Amino acid sequence: MKMPVKFKTYCPYCRKHEIHEVEKVKKVKTRGLNWIDRQKARRGSVGNMGKFSKVPGGDKPTKKINVRYRCTACKKAHLRKGFRAGKFELTE
Ligand SMILES: [Zn+2]
Repeated sequence: MKMPVKFKTYCPYCRKHEIHEVEKVKKVKTRGLNWIDRQKARRGSVGNMGKFSKVPGGDKPTKKINVRYRCTACKKAHLRKGFRAGKFELTE
């Protein structure tokens, strides 16, 4: 997928359409444990762990890409939900 570095889109801070610069975000930090991890910890590691006994599936063929949109008018950045794409390029 190709994406322009600058394009006009909605800015939630200005509450209108402004020109945004696209920045690729490498990793989005997830703080602490998820509920599923706590549930897994509660069950211990003896015997059949129900659904946790399942072997995890393989990796998906594509990775999720996180992009940050920085508004050129207010200089604030906002995030949108990541999307999946095999290749990600920024075009001028
Ligand atoms: Zn703005």
